[in-house]
Amino acid sequence: MPPIDQYQYDLVVLGGGSGGLAAAKQATELGAKVAVFDYVIPSPQGTKWGLGGTCVNVGCIPKKLMHQAALLGEAVHEATAFGWQIPEVKSVKIDWEALTTAVQNHVKSVNWVTRVELRNKKVEYINALGYFKDPHTIGGIMKNGEEKVVTAKNVLIAVGGRPNYPDIPGAVEYGITSDDIFSLSKPPGKTLVVGAGYIGLECAGFLNGLGYDATIMVRSIILRGFDQQMANIIAEEMETRGVHFIYQAKPKALEKQADGSILVHWVDKDGQIHKDVYDTVLFAIGRKALTKDLKLENAGVFVVPENEKIDALNEQTNVPHVYAVGDVLHKKPELTPVAIHAGKLLAKRLYGNATELMDYTNVATTVFSPLEYGCVGLSEEQAIAIHGEDSIEIYHAYYKPTEFFVPQKDNSRCYLKVVALRNNDQKVLGLHFVGPNAGEVIQGFATAIKCNLTFPLLKSTVGIHPTIAEEFTRVNITKRSGMDPKPQSCCS
Ligand code: FAD
Repeated sequence: MPPIDQYQYDLVVLGGGSGGLAAAKQATELGAKVAVFDYVIPSPQGTKWGLGGTCVNVGCIPKKLMHQAALLGEAVHEATAFGWQIPEVKSVKIDWEALTTAVQNHVKSVNWVTRVELRNKKVEYINALGYFKDPHTIGGIMKNGEEKVVTAKNVLIAVGGRPNYPDIPGAVEYGITSDDIFSLSKPPGKTLVVGAGYIGLECAGFLNGLGYDATIMVRSIILRGFDQQMANIIAEEMETRGVHFIYQAKPKALEKQADGSILVHWVDKDGQIHKDVYDTVLFAIGRKALTKDLKLENAGVFVVPENEKIDALNEQTNVPHVYAVGDVLHKKPELTPVAIHAGKLLAKRLYGNATELMDYTNVATTVFSPLEYGCVGLSEEQAIAIHGEDSIEIYHAYYKPTEFFVPQKDNSRCYLKVVALRNNDQKVLGLHFVGPNAGEVIQGFATAIKCNLTFPLLKSTVGIHPTIAEEFTRVNITKRSGMDPKPQSCCS
């Protein structure tokens, strides 16, 4: 091992996704010499992509674009109610190839900008699958099979994760995952989405919105870990829009038919076997951390046995010079801004004499289902489990977005709730919102929660009229009262 001042790099980052790139760029800005290893193993269907990680290539960005495409389809029909003259509006349909081309062009432009940015910042990008040869030596297998070896004083693990497949016949051969859907070469057609986490709901939601027949197979509950009342509201909304749900079921086998369709055998809660034919089967049953290829044993870094993730206190693993950020971390929110924020703060602590630690609490998030669900803080169930039912007050309301009136859109599931403590200053513990642009609505309130928002403060905030975000300043009915939370009149 070289003496400590002879390492080639101050920091080597394994994984050029949200967390790794943020840390690498921040570290170089603070004067560190940095290299990033990034390598994408193609999906079983052969899909591969460029630099930037999951979010840019097969996550947040293409997903949001497809969600937007679906919303626009809805808007085209609404527009006629506002007087737009759209000839043959009933026959408007999506051109899948044009959509995927537009989405992939954007993704490729981001890949390119990311490479240029690394070059400008003098971060060395090594397109190789990295692993530990020893605690300070990283090897990387490149596309041509050659190995690149570098030494580093510090190493940051930011390898993220990839989708799981069920261990059933035909799953890997004939199924796809979110890694494939955004660049699928043919229209997905009738699609079975297996899994009812946020990725499953979002994919089924945009496919249905784009005009494809979409079914979600739910093993147990919708959106585990989220507020269940809200989760069920968005599932109900999806059902009214035409998404089918098969509850308490799991697939048993996939078989390719002569015409290219896929015969799915599935089992219900009573053990009864059923069959149905789909054009596409998309598995969204969870993700696994990519720690296996890292040969962590050569560095002495431990993983949590049940999920192979890394349990790192303040992003530092059990080996002091090896750090980890992003989706690879055990029990941390798997979200891009979380990975980025943690990566930047870590680099500032390592190279900028900073001391600020990452705060993983009260991170806001949004499910981009057809009617979106944004939330921050505790769910009703979590608040009750922590503080007890008698200490929690739930304020709730249905509301009517102004934009929904003219096209007579269904507003029966536009709903919000505030989870607050009952006593003392009535601290707000959680905010939940189902409606259009839920992420935009929740983002600012997340800052308010960080600033110790109380229910009286929320009520003393003057709303912006007419918006849907102002509904949080109007809510005043408690669940405990049993009063009807149906919409108040528009302007009183
Ligand atoms: P990644 O971004 O996954 O980057 C890891 C990189 O390391 C990858 O490029 C990988 O190929 C590479 N790599 C792995 N092993 C090695 C190795 N041994 N050597 C070299 N390189 C390696 N988050 C949100 O905040 N909002 C959303 O709306 C959202 N939507 C999502 C939708 C989908 C369909 C998915 C799948 C995810 C979504 N996410 C969303 C989650 C978000 O994408 C992740 O939280 C984020 O990308 C994690 O960043 P990361 O840096 O930990 O890992």
